[in-house]
This record gives sequence, C-alpha cells and structure tokens, in this order.
Amino acid sequence: MLTNKHILILGGDARQIEIIDKLNALDAHLSLVGFDQLNQNFVGAIKVNMDEIRPSDVDSIILPVSGTDDEGHVEATFSSQTIKLTKEWLGETPQYCTIYSGISTPYLDQVSLEAGREVVKLFERDDVAIYNSIPTVEGSIMMVIQHTDITIHGANVIILGLGRTGLSLVRAFSALGASVKVGVRRPEHLARAFEMGVESFYIKDLASQVQDAEICINTIPAMVLTSQVLSHMPASSFILDVASLPGGTDFRYAKKRGIKAIITPGLPGLVAPKTAGRIIANVLSELLLEKFSEEEKRNDD
Ligand code: NAP
Repeated sequence: MLTNKHILILGGDARQIEIIDKLNALDAHLSLVGFDQLNQNFVGAIKVNMDEIRPSDVDSIILPVSGTDDEGHVEATFSSQTIKLTKEWLGETPQYCTIYSGISTPYLDQVSLEAGREVVKLFERDDVAIYNSIPTVEGSIMMVIQHTDITIHGANVIILGLGRTGLSLVRAFSALGASVKVGVRRPEHLARAFEMGVESFYIKDLASQVQDAEICINTIPAMVLTSQVLSHMPASSFILDVASLPGGTDFRYAKKRGIKAIITPGLPGLVAPKTAGRIIANVLSELLLEKFSEEEKRNDD
C-alpha cells in the first residue's frame, strides 16, 4: 500500500483520472494541482493550487505524459491556471522524491539534473510501449478507414519499422486481410517478418517498393518517406505517420504530389483515454510500490 505517501499529481488530461483512482485505492495521500475545473471529486485526494503545496512534504511527482514544455509549463486539461515546475521548487523536495513523466524534455532534463532528482520516463519502458501499441493500432485502423475509400482487406499496405508498434500493426493489418509488406533495417527483423508470413524489404530499398502502395504506415522516427521515395508512390496513396513528431515523412513534398499524408501523435489518448490511463496507472503503481518498499527496507537496515 502507499499509505501516508504524499504524491503530487501535476496537471494532465483524462488519463490522470485512472491514475488518481488507482493510487487512491492504494491509500496514497494525493494532492491534485490543475484539476480545479474537473467536475469530479475523489475521496482521499484534494484539489489544491501549486502555492499551497509544501515541496518538502512531497514524496513523488506525477507529470502529464508530455512532461513540461521548454519553459517548465505543465499541460492541464482541467484547469486554466498556469502551472510551472521550477528548479528552485524541485530543489526543496526531499532528495528521494522521484518525478514520473511519459517523456522527458530538455527543460525537465535540465531542472531535474540541477536539482538532483530522478525522472522516470514511462514511455521509454518496453511494457508501456507494448501495451500502448494496442490503442495505437486501433486508432490507426480508425484513421485508415476515415481517410481512404477502399477496404483494408485486400489493400496493399506498407508498414515501416518492426519495433513495438510496427509489430502490432503488421499483425492487425494482416489479420484484417491486407497484403502487408514491412520495411526494416535489421536482418533479424526480416526473419521475424518471414516467420509472420509477411513480405519484407530493407528500408534502404524503400523507393523501389512503393509503386503499388495504397496505404503506408510509418513508425520510424526518422526521415524515411523522403521526396525521392514519395516520387515513386502513387498520388492516390494514403500515408499515416504515427512516429513521434516531426514524423518520418516529407509532408511538404507529399502535399505537392497530391498524396494525402497525416501525422497522428497521441492516438492512445485520443481513441481510448481510459485504457491509455489504465496502462500508465498500472505501471506507475507498481513502480511506486517497489520504490517505497525498497526505501522502507533500507530504513529498517
Ligand atoms: P521502437 O520499438 O523503437 O520501434 C521503432 C522502429 O523504427 C524500430 O524497428 C527501429 O529499428 C526503427 N528505426 C528507428 N530509426 C530508424 C532509421 N533511421 N532507419 C530505419 N529504421 C529505424 O518504437 P515504437 O514503440 O514502435 O514507437 C515507434 C514510434 O511511434 C515512436 O516514435 C513513438 O514515439 C511513436 N508512437 C506514436 C504513437 C501515436 O499515438 N502516434 C503511439 C505509440 C508510439 P531498429 O530496431 O533497427 O532500431
């Protein structure tokens, strides 16, 4: 249990509600900053302003998945207040205070380093990325249906990257009856594609593989769909870029060629905020329980 552990939830969106529910059930002492416009109250969690929190009392801080912006501001869907995490404020928290965030940002890296506080980046974890691939795939299917006038069944679909998201996409689009071809850069991924019964090719040969592509889904966070590649693609193709911003597509050139290309960050939060919240809440609660039980053991020794 997290009894008497003071956890500060700093901003966020609907996903944080799942986190609040989960940590509340574990009996944590929760302070919620950035939830003043949320029409829901939680027994055992109090809505407060940042200046009402004594940093020295905070055991852990939970940030939104986006962390902070370049000036330290924290996104808060349920508040119009400006919330900022500063180095000075962080420096007053206990040394063992850990910050949990989806991703880090240069600002967060800098202030946490200067204040000597650890930042745990949940989205870098394999388990979170694999669980998140489930709503990402469902969101991708939704996007493809909305933006094309053909069925996925029977369509020529190219998927770029066979990482945690790419693997789930290949499996789902194949199961829907698409003719799937996957672009990879490692021989072991060619072997995996073979085992899964889908065609594959090296990403360096992409330009020679796209002539009959009807749908192309990119998961590679690097420029791969260059103007040179796009010049070989039919103008009627649809590109869904799910890689982190700025994606891996030359969107300017795609537009010029008349290829519909969209980038869709945050699909899990968009199509399944409750599930996306539960994924984070489950991992977070395990990490917090582990952290505090280790700390108690150390204190006992
Ligand atoms: P991942 O497991 O690291 O997979 C990325 C894949 O891209 C790997 O197969 C990697 O190959 C390949 N790759 C990276 N750089 C490459 C390059 N320069 N050339 C060729 N291949 C390259 O990551 P993931 O968890 O699947 O996520 C993929 C991307 O989607 C990330 O940017 C992530 O932030 C994003 N994402 C977006 C959403 C959304 O809602 N839009 C949801 C989930 C994830 P190697 O294995 O050889 O390194």
